[in-house]
Amino acid sequence: MKPVVCKFGGSSLADGTNILKVCEILRSDPARKYAVVSAPGKRYSGDTKVTDLLYECYREAKEKGSCAGTFAKIRTRFQSIVDELGMSSFNIGAILDETEKQIDEKKSADFTASRGEYLNARVIAAKLGWTFVDAKDIIFFKKDGTFDEEKSYPSIAARLKECDEAVIPGFYGTDAEGNIKTFSRGGSDISGSIVARAVNADLYENWTDVSGFLACDPRIVNSPERIEVISFKELRELSYMGANVLHADSIFPVRKGDIPIKIKNTFRPQDPGTLILPSKKYGAPGNTVTGIAGKKDFTVIFLEKSMMNGEIGFARKVLSILENHKICFEHMPSGIDTLSLVIESRYLNGGLLEELLSEIRDAVHPDYVRVLENIALVATVGHGMASSIGTSARLFKALSEAGINVRMIDQGSSELNIIVGIDNDDYEKCVRAIYHEFFADKKN
Ligand code: ADP
Ligand code: ASP
Ligand code: MG
Repeated sequence: MKPVVCKFGGSSLADGTNILKVCEILRSDPARKYAVVSAPGKRYSGDTKVTDLLYECYREAKEKGSCAGTFAKIRTRFQSIVDELGMSSFNIGAILDETEKQIDEKKSADFTASRGEYLNARVIAAKLGWTFVDAKDIIFFKKDGTFDEEKSYPSIAARLKECDEAVIPGFYGTDAEGNIKTFSRGGSDISGSIVARAVNADLYENWTDVSGFLACDPRIVNSPERIEVISFKELRELSYMGANVLHADSIFPVRKGDIPIKIKNTFRPQDPGTLILPSKKYGAPGNTVTGIAGKKDFTVIFLEKSMMNGEIGFARKVLSILENHKICFEHMPSGIDTLSLVIESRYLNGGLLEELLSEIRDAVHPDYVRVLENIALVATVGHGMASSIGTSARLFKALSEAGINVRMIDQGSSELNIIVGIDNDDYEKCVRAIYHEFFADKKN
């Protein structure tokens, strides 16, 4: 029997009561042999995630030489988890003492942040009676900071073969110098996917606090429709564009291994969830748009120059300016004589925007330059859009009826995704308008 790898997010592991539910889920199916766990998340709105407390510990240790002030909160959280789990013989105190000492000594942001997953995995493994396998011994990064699959996969497979069942902390591994390194925030999803690929899992189950991937952010539309089946490509577009139920990079390892993902709700395990497949029947009737996602706070630099299309090296010169400043661009829609750069505004603080504009003017002498700030991007995604006549017309009509001014349009060459740029203030209204057009009245 091929194993199922289960990843549980912080929202599923926030306290002892929830951890008991997780243990029940793991024990209810013998195929669920490997669990990848996050740090405890928020217990209620307004609460602080353990990972955020740990970043605070790092700052405190750096500034004051000791993280004792904030670490006391982490101590209380883990102590109460262990109490709720009735694990009186488990000496969490000693593990916490050692962790606090290491945080003060190492003064490493990544090491400190990783301790939420480490501590939680130690507790959950002990509660289940499963083997604790430290991610630092099986997940590795290369010198350039990227994931080292050649070293990691054989080492994960060999180590887990020795265990009937195991709990592995998510979010971190070891870098080329032997230090702890984390993935970006939300990275336990990536760890789960890596483990699933390494053991050639039958399925990668990602357990969270919603009953699947929803057609849009449930914080914007009340109870949006659940997506039953979605392709890896659609998921990548949606999660990259802000549907943060799954980290956008978590798709790559399982995609290579052709392993499906299932999003499940820890608090409603009976719900069917969302199945994410390497491919699905494209353009089936009644399935034009699969989902909608978006992000705020972009800046668009619009350049116009007559005969730009004939000027060899125009785009390269502009892009090399961004490269010199180590700035990524998100999109680059272009026309015959126009080129726009869409960049996350956070890269352009502290006068950098003005610097970039002046370098661009000197390098390519555009006829006209315009900057749009406070722009949100909203992506409407679905394989079915390519074969459904009039999808764009419906989308733009819905936006115009909602009184939304579209500042930029970018339809990728994949025909999978139409992105509109709108004012930040119109973001929620825009998501709702598109959702209601394609879902609410079942016209999709
Ligand atoms: P976890 O703690 O399990 O890693 P996350 O908080 O990272 O969970 O992701 C789950 C959350 O993602 C949900 O609670 C929901 O608010 C949010 N979310 C945003 N967009 C979507 C979407 N399209 N479908 C489902 N959830 C979404
Ligand atoms: N605990 C980490 C975070 O909050 C990683 C994760 O939960 O996936 O970002
Ligand atoms: Mg998450």
